[in-house]
Amino acid sequence: MSSNYPSSHWSIQKELGSNLPKFDLDPSSGTKFEEIETGVHLFTNPNATGQTIMLSGILHGDEDAGANIMDKLRSELCDGTIDLKRNVIFVDGNLRAAHEARNTKDSKPGDHRYYSKDKPLGIEANANRLWTIDDLKKEYESYAGKRRRIIASAINDILSGGADASEVRATLEHHDLHQSFKVPKVKDVRGNHTDDSEYTYGMVYDSLQFFKEQFSSVYAGLVLSDPATAQTFAGYTARELNATAITAELGTIGHPDHLTYADKLLDAFRQILQGMEPAVAQTPPDTWKPIEAIIRKPGVENFAFYNADQAPELLIGKPIEPPVDFIEAKNLIAIPRQDGHYLIQPGQAVLFANDQVTTGDRAGLIIEKLAA
Ligand SMILES: [Zn+2]
Repeated sequence: MSSNYPSSHWSIQKELGSNLPKFDLDPSSGTKFEEIETGVHLFTNPNATGQTIMLSGILHGDEDAGANIMDKLRSELCDGTIDLKRNVIFVDGNLRAAHEARNTKDSKPGDHRYYSKDKPLGIEANANRLWTIDDLKKEYESYAGKRRRIIASAINDILSGGADASEVRATLEHHDLHQSFKVPKVKDVRGNHTDDSEYTYGMVYDSLQFFKEQFSSVYAGLVLSDPATAQTFAGYTARELNATAITAELGTIGHPDHLTYADKLLDAFRQILQGMEPAVAQTPPDTWKPIEAIIRKPGVENFAFYNADQAPELLIGKPIEPPVDFIEAKNLIAIPRQDGHYLIQPGQAVLFANDQVTTGDRAGLIIEKLAA
């Protein structure tokens, strides 16, 4: 397999000053490659039909599952293994955070994902929280903020007249690929199940049915999200570009593919890019709706997530060590706040639970399972 294809690895090198190596696609395939910006790659084919696919990854730098999927697909497009029937855009997100995460000795997941007070490269903003309507009006000084503007304008160029726009339909199916912290196993969330793999899930923006049908083999859970208020990249493409969009959380950062379902998503994309339907799973994904954001309010003492056995105000037991994702409310979980507690009821769970966030920030999101 050729190594000189436009992978996220090469995008990182290019961002740091090297040139993208020259490579040639097999001309008989009809597939054309264009680098719109560093780390924004467009593959088109005259035989392509349907919505344009957009795959994005490493918005937080250290989430390798998405980068690996995108690199393999680009490699297979370049060497002709994939016979392209859908136009596809690849977006490599926070290239400098990815470089830091890959090149710092003894770095742990989370160390370099976006936040750094003392890094010369200026990786100091969360690249997946810069996409609200208000955010888009701001001139960010941070690397992540500048990168967001570059990516947004490159996508706009593709869809509105630059590049090969005549061949790219102005409709998008956007998969933004992430990984999370300490995702539970499927059997732990579903209770009655024996599945030992991780509870791979996605936040969907007005496209619940599409992902439930098309990606049942990949996702254990799908969480409804409101594009109107979303801060995320996929929320932005859903809101501003009318994309069918998902923020995918492919298991726990650093875990191997067979646990995270990343290989199943790779297989699904191989099928889709060649104009086929992905596999259908026997068990459809669980579906969830948001109930309430848990905010770390000022002046709250002992802010933490607890398993509270009886009276929540007693906060029995020791705090659950953060960050964890998809805490299930097998036991009652209580989180102190000024006017009492957030209580997690049976059938609910907490997403992105992190009691270490800055005061005023979201420390988690309470969700509830929808009827099947
Ligand atoms: Zn992420």
